Amino acid sequence: QAKQEGRNRFKCFTPAMDTVMRERIELEERLRKAVVRNEFFLHYQPIVDMSNSKVTGVEALIRWQDPTHGLMAPDRFIQVAEEIGLIIPIGNWVIEQALKDLAEWRNAGIDIKMSINMSGRQCQQKQGRKFVEHLSNQLGYYQIPAQSVNIEITESMLMQDTDECMNTLNCIRGMGCEVYIDDFGTGYSSLSYLKNFPISAIKIDRSFVDSALKSQSDANLIKAIVMMGQSLKMDLVAEGIETEAQWLLMKAMGCNYGQGYYMSKPICATELKAFIQSQTSQQPPSNKTVKYTH
Ligand code: C2E
Ligand code: MG
Ligand code: MG
Ligand code: MG
Repeated sequence: QAKQEGRNRFKCFTPAMDTVMRERIELEERLRKAVVRNEFFLHYQPIVDMSNSKVTGVEALIRWQDPTHGLMAPDRFIQVAEEIGLIIPIGNWVIEQALKDLAEWRNAGIDIKMSINMSGRQCQQKQGRKFVEHLSNQLGYYQIPAQSVNIEITESMLMQDTDECMNTLNCIRGMGCEVYIDDFGTGYSSLSYLKNFPISAIKIDRSFVDSALKSQSDANLIKAIVMMGQSLKMDLVAEGIETEAQWLLMKAMGCNYGQGYYMSKPICATELKAFIQSQTSQQPPSNKTVKYTH
C-alpha cells in the first residue's frame, strides 16, 4: 500500500519530520481521490448592499467532505492543491457548480452576482488562457451574462506574476466579468499600483474590520483605503462583519458592500435561495446611521 511505502521511505528522518511528511503525502493522496470521486461542494455567502441591506451577490466558498477526516475548510487544502496542480481541476469544477447554481436561481427570478475565488496558479500563462476559455464556455452553456460574475484574486498573486496576471485579468475584464481584490491590506501592494489592473472592487480584509473599533490606527487605515478606492472609482466591500457595531462603522466609513456572519454565514445553495426569497419579510441589518469623524 502507498501509505505503507510512504512510511518506509521516510524512516531515516526524525520522527517529527516523518509525521509531517507522512501527513502531507496522505493529504495529497486523499485530495487526488477527492477530485476523482468529487467530494467537494460549495457554500455561498451573501454580499450585501450597505445602503439598503439587499443581497446583491454571493461568494462561492469550497468545502471538502473527506470520508476519513470529515468536513475540511479550504484553508486546510487549497494551498496543497495549488502546489500539486490539483487546483486546476478543482477550480474548473468550482466554476461549473457555481454557474449551475446561479443559473437555477436566475430561473427562479433571483438576479444576483456570483463571486468566484481564483488562485495564482490558475492565472499563469497557459492556465490563465484555459481559465478564461473555461469560464467563457460555462457562461455560454448556462446562458449567464458575464456581468453577473466577479473573479476574486489576492494582492500577492498580482505581485508574484505581474505580467501574466495582467494578461489574464484583462481577458476576464474584456469578457465583461469584474475583478475584485480579496483580503486587501494583508499584502504589500499599493493602490496606485492596483490602478494598472482592471479592478472593480476592493475587499477589505476582515482583520481590519475586526480591529477598526478597537484600534484608531486600523480605523484610519480603512478610511485611507476607502478614500483611495473611491478616487479610483472602485467599490469597497468590508469582509467579516460580525456585529452591528462593525456594520455601522463600515457603512459610516463609506464601504458600499458588506459580507460577514452578521448578515449571514456561508450557506448551501438551497438555503441561499430561501434566504433571498425571505428577504422582503425579514428584518434587515441595522439601518441606523452613525457618523464617522476622523
Ligand atoms: P476569502 O475568499 O477571503 O473568503 C472569506 C472567508 O472568510 C471565508 O472562509 C468565510 O467563511 C470567512 N468569513 C466570512 N464572514 C466571516 C465573519 O464574519 N467572520 C469570520 N471569522 N469569518 C468570516 P472560508 O470559506 O473558510 O474560505 C477561506 C479561504 O479559502 C477564502 O478566503 C479563499 O481565499 C479560499 N477559498 C475558498 N473557496 C475557494 C475556491 O473555490 N477557490 C480558491 N482558489 N480559493 C478558495
Ligand atoms: Mg474571496
Ligand atoms: Mg477575503
Ligand atoms: Mg481570506
